[in-house]
Amino acid sequence: MQWHYRCATCGATYEITPDRYLCDPCARGQQAARPLEGILEAEWEGDMPGAGVIPLPVEAAWFPPIPVGNTPLWAPERLRRDFAAPGLWLKDDTCNPSGSFKDRASYLVAAFARKHGVKEVVLASTGNAASSMAAVGAAAGLPIKVFLPAAAPIAKRIQVLQYGAELIAVDGTYDQAFDLSLEYSTKTGSLSRNTAYNPLTIEGKKTVAFEIVDDLLRAGAGAPAHVFVPAGDGVILAGVYRGFENLLKLGRVDKIPVIWACQAEGSSAIARALAAPFSASDPFGPPRASKTVADSIAVDVPRNGLHALGKLRRYGGRAVIVSDSEILAAQKMLSAGSGLFAEPSSSAAFAGWLKVRDRVPGGENCVLLITGSGLKDIEAAARGLALET
Ligand SMILES: *Cc1c(COP(=O)(O)O)cnc(C)c1O
Repeated sequence: MQWHYRCATCGATYEITPDRYLCDPCARGQQAARPLEGILEAEWEGDMPGAGVIPLPVEAAWFPPIPVGNTPLWAPERLRRDFAAPGLWLKDDTCNPSGSFKDRASYLVAAFARKHGVKEVVLASTGNAASSMAAVGAAAGLPIKVFLPAAAPIAKRIQVLQYGAELIAVDGTYDQAFDLSLEYSTKTGSLSRNTAYNPLTIEGKKTVAFEIVDDLLRAGAGAPAHVFVPAGDGVILAGVYRGFENLLKLGRVDKIPVIWACQAEGSSAIARALAAPFSASDPFGPPRASKTVADSIAVDVPRNGLHALGKLRRYGGRAVIVSDSEILAAQKMLSAGSGLFAEPSSSAAFAGWLKVRDRVPGGENCVLLITGSGLKDIEAAARGLALET
């Protein structure tokens, strides 16, 4: 297999090297506080991988010794009955080592870093990417430096320190942490794992699509018709699409499911852009300060917004916006109705499904991506419980 990067905008190709992040000509027009231009996708030529193999741009031997992915896909029987939804499935990525979906990206980035003898991996994060890279970095023996907003939930901060990474608390937003970390990695030559900016963060997340298709087949349930994805920066969303694009190329599925971008009312840039006219020259417009209980999907600027929007438009993806009270109510309903305690961002996927389920034909498979553990943000869950009384 021969791998390279291809620009999702202009089609230019690049070698996959540690200092390659964006497409130069496309990124040249980048404006401050706007989604990234010149996002690159990994692509292979030549041999098709064997049955059951997920094609990835780093050889298996480089992956660190920690069990990422292969998370359970299961049927929440009581919720199925209560909502007359026999096709409802939960893909439980809280089972990843650091408790979130982000481990899928960290795993590929760590493998790449090992292969290329990278000295340090640097990133900004709202919390989960940091705790994830710290965990996977610990398994790999890689030094990790994270720029984290001081307001990140305490469990995520403690995880970072517990795994032995270096934490730089940023007295500001995630967006400011993003810029600071880029300044640092550009200056030092450290590998940046900033989400969207490093193309491997998108590529690493595609593995979930392969697993969903295999899991459903094994369960005798056919192909996924809908996948509900909590979206902030839009990297998981684009990663899921990349996975299905690969699966289509490999002939393992015959169509791409309807992907639903589930966003919080206080951080809904991708949903708003999808609703904007196709001809709008700047569908994202100026950034809006985010405000939601779902910290993992709170972004002022969706870094992968343009890329994610392109996929949603191309494949007829949809978006659904849910309020904080809907998120917290859904969090409790999911916990008490299935036994899966998810953090608010992931509960937004369930809240989104609750909101649009009448528009989804009854028997069709709906897979909810449950991306993070509820234990990562106990305060948010406590707020939800307080609202009940
Ligand atoms: C990061 C994250 C998301 C959102 O992913 P994006 O790529 O930013 O859209 C959703 N859920 C959890 C738990 C996350 O950590």
